Amino acid sequence: MAGASVKVAVRVRPFNSREMSKESKCIIQMSGNTTTIINPKAPKETKSFNFDFSYWSHTSPEDINYASQQLVYRDIGEEMLLHAFEGYNVCIFAYGQTGAGKSYTMMGRQEKDQQGIIPLVSYMEIYCERVRDLLNPKNKGNLRVREHPLLGPTVAATNMNETSSRSHAVFNIIFTQKRFDSETDNTSEKVSKISLVDLAGSERADSTGAKGTRLKEGANINKSLTTLGKVISALAEVDSGGNKNKKKKKVESFIPYRDSVLTWLLRENLGGNSRTAMVAALSPADINYDETLSTLRYADRAK
Ligand code: ADP
Repeated sequence: MAGASVKVAVRVRPFNSREMSKESKCIIQMSGNTTTIINPKAPKETKSFNFDFSYWSHTSPEDINYASQQLVYRDIGEEMLLHAFEGYNVCIFAYGQTGAGKSYTMMGRQEKDQQGIIPLVSYMEIYCERVRDLLNPKNKGNLRVREHPLLGPTVAATNMNETSSRSHAVFNIIFTQKRFDSETDNTSEKVSKISLVDLAGSERADSTGAKGTRLKEGANINKSLTTLGKVISALAEVDSGGNKNKKKKKVESFIPYRDSVLTWLLRENLGGNSRTAMVAALSPADINYDETLSTLRYADRAK
């Protein structure tokens, strides 16, 4: 069972044209929260994993596990936003091999109903703020959304389209709630950081035939993804009891944030006063069996 602080989802994308031209078979099955992968070389060999959400996409929208962008946003984005309103730092990241659907989940596409978590979170934040204003007339005029003049959501989001699969793209929103109490004349402030992360492709350097700089790049990516995995598993452990409050601080001090730049940058959003969600993106095709299995294992360790 996932610890309270880490939500884990897997999402399978539709076949792409390359997979279709090779007449690839689908090796992923989903039923409720369970995702099963079939070894194409030994079809009786299956492995099943349970996640908070198992999202299907390549059949009809009537399929019970079919997940639209809106559903993924409601299950994950909205929940994390609520935590941000409560004052937690939050982090949502997408993991998986290149082409598996990470950017689609985080950014989505421009067409109607195709937007991903990042644009929807940015809009919702503004929307929620207005709703709060309306619901609480006492606050009227004192609660306002201010977009950072340089780092406004739209600017950063546009840049993210250009990120390559060889780098991690981290989109941060610093969310400040200020409250003015007219009776006491006091102002209080609640600050939370929302990090939305489209990770570099998780494919192993050896499977892409990389050499030289690319190979080194690959090694760095692997290091940061491995460290991220370790940090998240360590946090899930801290969270799932066994190490009750007294020990919690001590255990947290052993979490290997410093072992990679990525985890160091995200340290405020992972553990401590934070909530984390991960979406592992999967290809449905037999030709990607090894990578897909390794993504499922990574997601499984994060629980
Ligand atoms: P990644 O970021 O992991 O490299 P992308 O998000 O760019 O992969 O996805 C590869 C392609 O598959 C894109 O054209 C994307 O629009 C499409 N795609 C990915 N996931 C889905 C999905 N769930 N539904 C429809 N199309 C998808």
